[in-house]
Amino acid sequence: MTENKTLSPLTPPRILISGAGIAGLALARRLDSMGIAYTLIEQRDSMQQSTSGIALPFNAIKALEVLGLDQAVLASAHQVKEVVYCKPSGRILSKASLQQPPINQAPYVALQRSQLHQILSKDLAQNIHFSTSLTDVKQSTNGPATCTFTDSRLNGEFDLIVAAEGINSPLRQQFCGQKDSIVDYQIPNWRFIVEMPDHGLQPTYMLGRTELFMVYPVSPDTLYCYAHVYDEAGQYSTGDAKQHLMQIFSHFRGSATEILSKLDDIDVIPGRLRSVDKPYFSNGRVVYVGDAANACSPLLQQGAAAAFEDIICLSTQLKKQGLDDAITAYQQLRSDRIHWVHHASDAPIAKMKMMQSPIAAFARNTVIRLKGPINVQGWRKLAQQDGLVV
Ligand SMILES: Cc1cc2nc3c(=O)[nH]c(=O)nc-3n(C[C@H](O)[C@H](O)[C@H](O)COP(=O)(O)OP(=O)(O)OC[C@H]3O[C@@H](n4cnc5c(N)ncnc54)[C@H](O)[C@@H]3O)c2cc1C
Repeated sequence: MTENKTLSPLTPPRILISGAGIAGLALARRLDSMGIAYTLIEQRDSMQQSTSGIALPFNAIKALEVLGLDQAVLASAHQVKEVVYCKPSGRILSKASLQQPPINQAPYVALQRSQLHQILSKDLAQNIHFSTSLTDVKQSTNGPATCTFTDSRLNGEFDLIVAAEGINSPLRQQFCGQKDSIVDYQIPNWRFIVEMPDHGLQPTYMLGRTELFMVYPVSPDTLYCYAHVYDEAGQYSTGDAKQHLMQIFSHFRGSATEILSKLDDIDVIPGRLRSVDKPYFSNGRVVYVGDAANACSPLLQQGAAAAFEDIICLSTQLKKQGLDDAITAYQQLRSDRIHWVHHASDAPIAKMKMMQSPIAAFARNTVIRLKGPINVQGWRKLAQQDGLVV
């Protein structure tokens, strides 16, 4: 057992959660349910979310079940049954059912991000210190950290700081050197929600060479769309998102044509595919969860699932043992799965440059024809690993 210099077994740890996104909110709810106190800060001034969607595969729903939120999410979400990969012409490359073993352990759903945040933040708003962030953290060896905040009323000591600040986590920057810890794949992307009554679609991935146009239903009448392209020259990194979409995807047929014709009235969110270079778990009493720990490409749609699994694992260990042992156990229990997810999500993205070659894109498509959609292959492997490690 690691010596714990400041806490007796009966002293509850003073826990700070920095960031009220998916990971921070889920952790706050979980600690509430365990009767463990915390302080939760959020740099934004409210819970307002951009209009985008989020897809939750089986293991996200299994984790939500542990958090007691699966029914609330399922009631707001749209369930899908298969995944379709096709060419820009609409010709199908491959299809796979999501209702067969081993990946049918729970439903696959998607919903608007704002709905997920509403569910996660229900009854929590009064616990969140909005417009608040850390200005400094001084750690001591195996002891509490001295924290100062933009709101000086919170200044004081915390035994555990949970960095749930997303990919740009300032805590990771301070303790791990963030400058070198983010990989930018030179892939600008665009997300939006579009109304399309009675679309009748299942999740559909239209693959060009490096261009991807994905539609994922969030209701029978609404689609979440995601598009990206490899862009070494940076020509699509700035400027008019809608013009870029029209230019890059003008040759895409099927639902893409109809969706692109509706862009005028739609808010498009531009972004870039970026990941942490490797998973991070902790530095002393600072523990990383969610994207602060393991941001990777959304290929396997594991972002929310990983955040939920992280906080379930961490909170369970906090309940079981002293702080320093809990932190060690968190890293040990999460390491294999997180390294696998990070690698499986990013390896195909890291090779995107090669897909500019028609031969490489043809070879990739041949593999998809033979083995099935890339994300379904990933979910099958994930489903065969140990489940939720708590
Ligand atoms: C294009 C794209 C598509 C995606 N699609 C999916 C998908 O379909 N399914 C899926 O599961 N995942 C998806 N993801 C990943 C998913 O969005 C993330 O994994 C998830 O949002 C991580 O949650 P988080 O709470 O760790 O971080 P975030 O959601 O980034 O939340 C971090 C929070 O911390 C706050 N914060 C930041 N800095 C500070 C600070 N210094 N002090 C206080 N607060 C701070 C932020 O304001 C924010 O509220 C996608 C990601 C991208 C980029």
